[in-house]
Amino acid sequence: MLYFLISFVSFVMILSKSFTNYKPLSSNATKLASNLFCGKLFSFLASRIKTRTSFLAFSFFQFSLFIQSPNKSLVLSKFEEDQRKVSLLDLHDLPLDCILEKLSPNELCNMAKVCKSLRKSCRSDYLWEKHMKMKWGKVFGDAAYREWKCFVASRNVKSSNQCKNQKKILHDFLPFFWIKSKAEKDMKLKLDDSIASLYLSLENGNFWFPAQVYNRENGHAGFMMSCYDAQLCYDSRTNTFQARYSPHGRWTIEENIKWERLRVPPIDSCSHVLHISDCLDDLRPGDHVEIQWRRNKEFPYGWWYSVIGHLETCQGQRNHCQCDNKDTVILEFRQYATSSRWRQTMINRKNHREEGNEIEGFYGGIRKLHSKEEITKWKKLWPTKNVE
Ligand SMILES: [Zn+2]
Repeated sequence: MLYFLISFVSFVMILSKSFTNYKPLSSNATKLASNLFCGKLFSFLASRIKTRTSFLAFSFFQFSLFIQSPNKSLVLSKFEEDQRKVSLLDLHDLPLDCILEKLSPNELCNMAKVCKSLRKSCRSDYLWEKHMKMKWGKVFGDAAYREWKCFVASRNVKSSNQCKNQKKILHDFLPFFWIKSKAEKDMKLKLDDSIASLYLSLENGNFWFPAQVYNRENGHAGFMMSCYDAQLCYDSRTNTFQARYSPHGRWTIEENIKWERLRVPPIDSCSHVLHISDCLDDLRPGDHVEIQWRRNKEFPYGWWYSVIGHLETCQGQRNHCQCDNKDTVILEFRQYATSSRWRQTMINRKNHREEGNEIEGFYGGIRKLHSKEEITKWKKLWPTKNVE
């Protein structure tokens, strides 16, 4: 592998130098050739890494087939001349980054095994931010990131203490060099707060993170069209998640949760905290909202999808609807049959905070949905038949 990389980067260096040192016929031609060359070169090199083709077979002749250079023979002789003078680490940051940017997370991990210098380059936040956002951006929020920071700090303190104890015991009772070396090595294997470390911990299922799950417990009738806080762990073999919910003193576990049933909590607060509604005066029939609800005051809130309905007195006169001028607001939960006691509830827009009782449960804060994406997501989770 090392030989492979040395060969490949040596090649890059030589070609770079060739273009730098050789003065071509005109500046426009140079610029054009250079742009074409660099673009194709990085794509070509990245593709070679991806396919893991042996760089023993990777020669200038192969690459020259990819470009249309008028100075082929001159570059070739320069390549041959400098072939033995450059090394992998001579490559400047910019061209190296351009190549590394094209690698997948898995390929970056493989590249990082080559040497310390490449390990450092391959773990830069700059490279991993893009991968993190692309794969985890819709389920990993600020609260999860704060938990990750605490997780890293606590793991490293624990690991450090364990290693110190281990090292002391080994030093006292087993003073063999190789054993001590292993203890010292283990101590260095710490998690760090880099994005690469976070990404890999998520990917390997080593870190449980907070997020919210729609239709928890596989669409249990008691939770249909709701979204609850949970601790999530990813399983890369099945590309699904395991969730732990904490309803009231006991943990409930659910497995095989797909990506589309997760989201970043829209309100960054504890699930036991009442959300202060700031949209009550704006609620109109047909608006899409989420409202907090909990079975009793010991339970955490979940967010429930609802649509603002018309008052009973408005029936049949909707062309002259005055519902938005009334203090009472009707919330409809249309996933329930019209005969269900859960089908609708009323709140007062002037003084609503938390309303309910031990039988009906407690309705808390409301957030109005302005984003089409959010509304569409709820509609995609609609049950195939009404819930009683
Ligand atoms: Zn109305």
